[in-house]
Amino acid sequence: MLLVPFVITHAFAGGSVTNAKSNAPPFLIRSGVAPIDVHMHAIDPIVWNEKFPREKHEKMFGHQCMDAEEHLAMTIQAMDRFGIQKGILQGHLHLVRQWVERYPNRFIPAFTPEFGDTNLPPVADPKFLALDHEALAQKFGRDLDSGKYKLLGELTHPFSGFPLNWKPLYPYLRVAEKHGVPALFHTGDPMESTLANLGANSNPSLLADVAREFPQLKIVACKGGLENNEKLIGVMTRYTNVWADVSVLNWENDEDFQSAIQRFRKAGLMDRVLFGSDQCLWPELIGRAVRNTDAFLTKEEATKVFRLNACRLLGLSP
Ligand SMILES: [Zn+2]
Repeated sequence: MLLVPFVITHAFAGGSVTNAKSNAPPFLIRSGVAPIDVHMHAIDPIVWNEKFPREKHEKMFGHQCMDAEEHLAMTIQAMDRFGIQKGILQGHLHLVRQWVERYPNRFIPAFTPEFGDTNLPPVADPKFLALDHEALAQKFGRDLDSGKYKLLGELTHPFSGFPLNWKPLYPYLRVAEKHGVPALFHTGDPMESTLANLGANSNPSLLADVAREFPQLKIVACKGGLENNEKLIGVMTRYTNVWADVSVLNWENDEDFQSAIQRFRKAGLMDRVLFGSDQCLWPELIGRAVRNTDAFLTKEEATKVFRLNACRLLGLSP
């Protein structure tokens, strides 16, 4: 995957550069590089609107998309406005494919075995365990070869009651390692969640087992471990193949985010910290994530976190 070096003004295709610049956050003005968002979702609003009552969540996260077309349009609009060149796209696989077909240069498709597809049951369904995961993982490998998918994630099995080091997903991790592509894992217990044992199952300390088992696999701990950020930093210090994205951290609580950044900095890990938004059904979170991440970083750190680290992770030209 090679890219022509990309300057920020090119990202505003279809919009007025002047208007976009006048609304741009400080990072875009001073850095001149185009961010890569390593954590975006194409998810079915009909399925998710049942889980997330609109009235409650709009107060916290901004406008909640009620249909798939609006979700895509608002996500692209926010990417243009904040100069985001590309996003790693995860979620319901039929929508991931649709978005990539519509905007092949803006999204990097990820395969998520347990997120549900037309021919796969969700992870909580007993039928999922009965599947031939070795064979499905080989199919995933062929899909990597053909370019249908570029990486693995976001693995969200802790939401279904399974720990981060859950063995049934190891065949997919083995294939990702062999192909040199990253695997993204949900980590932490989001403030919104009331699920029993989510904190224990999504404890980033469990990623140490994965890092040991797959020493060449690039492991991305999404959401920076959230309340267990210190534990993630312990794992990242011991295992150089573990990275962190700062999605959710960067829009949930400013104080916690600032503390997390200070910890990454103190531990000398800023070369493995990645920008992400995890916009889900609320594309206005993309702007909030950009502005907050920008606010807590030096120019040098911002250039790495918003772009250069992601280029290294994905094998893209800086
Ligand atoms: Zn996510």
